[in-house]
Amino acid sequence: MMKTVRNDFPILNTQINGRPLTYLDGAATSQKPWPVLDAVQQYYLTENANVHRGVYTLSEVATKSYEGAREKVQNFLHAPSSRNIIFTRSTTESLNWLAQAYGPTVVGQGDEILLTYLEHHSNIVPWQVLAQRVGATLKYVKLTADGQIDLADFAQQLSPKTKIVSFAHVSNVLGTEAPVKEMARLAHQVGATVVVDGAQAVAHLPVDVLDLDVDFYAFSGHKMLAPTGIGVLYGKEVLLEQMPPAQYGGEMIEEVGLQSSTYQELPWRFEAGTPNIAGAVGLGAAIDYLEHLGMAAIAAKESDLMKTAIAELSTIPGLEIYGPVDPADRHGVLSFNISGVHPHDVATILDQAGVEVRAGHHCAQPLMRYLGQAATVRASFSFYNNQEDIVRLVQALKTVKEYFP
Ligand code: PLP
Repeated sequence: MMKTVRNDFPILNTQINGRPLTYLDGAATSQKPWPVLDAVQQYYLTENANVHRGVYTLSEVATKSYEGAREKVQNFLHAPSSRNIIFTRSTTESLNWLAQAYGPTVVGQGDEILLTYLEHHSNIVPWQVLAQRVGATLKYVKLTADGQIDLADFAQQLSPKTKIVSFAHVSNVLGTEAPVKEMARLAHQVGATVVVDGAQAVAHLPVDVLDLDVDFYAFSGHKMLAPTGIGVLYGKEVLLEQMPPAQYGGEMIEEVGLQSSTYQELPWRFEAGTPNIAGAVGLGAAIDYLEHLGMAAIAAKESDLMKTAIAELSTIPGLEIYGPVDPADRHGVLSFNISGVHPHDVATILDQAGVEVRAGHHCAQPLMRYLGQAATVRASFSFYNNQEDIVRLVQALKTVKEYFP
């Protein structure tokens, strides 16, 4: 099945700058397979209507597809109920809603919010704004020399003042995986709420929110084969029941009076306005596709690619890899620099060879400062990449020194 998987991704047959596309930026957004593209198109061709409103058949069909997608997300995350699953626009929106709506209910003056040095800006800035609003302090957990979250420092920084801890399941720069279960256990001992940014994990690892025992889990569909504009916030029911909505309007209400209103039950209370129905349907199809391949098979394929990439890149003179060099310790992403060459120049030269990689700070400026770098090149691997993609990456990297001897 894995062998023929590339045929499912039409974009992989296109050319860039006259060369076959070598797409190594799945960490920014994944490519989309036919079953997802078809599901979205079929939805618009045969089911399109607004959800939860009509008593007519087409609206019921659309509602069934939308709510069916929610159940697929529930099963994908091993959540106890579809009431735990809120559709949002993205990881960024999920985290903003948490910081804006849930945050002030648990964080007050003098309290602490604990993050780590490897967070994406989307998991930093919303908490900064919350901290400024309520007079709380943000603290950051250190990393070990190879870029893992330092558990000892985490444990030491936790205290009864810690009300929220929020961290990435997988780093979008280093590819390192947080010891989520252990961090959740330690955080719960001091009564903190545990928020996990799963943006870089869901496409690469099986996720079981019950086993991990996290309170909230946020991710974006577009990094796991689904369309852009659809994301998820999972929350424990008891916490969602306490959380005020972040947005108000149609769909989320039960009864509207002139001066006040009552709201729908979970999860619809959090979905004001017409949702991204086609996006949810696409996400459902993406989950079916991933589950058909199997997350274990996906992880094994990506681990093979990572092994080859690390071995090959390590032979290039002047190339420094950031984060662990044991392929078992990283998922999806490989960040590096070539000494004396700006990462943007590296990415531009690679682009000429059809090799698409990201260069920059990767929306993780505090981490860049921590690594002592202004920017890095980042190649990221998905199960639809193959060994040929790595050969092309390495060949193109070897030409960089011809431009910058
Ligand atoms: N968190 C991490 C770790 C990410 O890698 C990203 C995207 O790159 C985000 C959050 C934000 O995701 P989105 O832009 O889909 O909201």
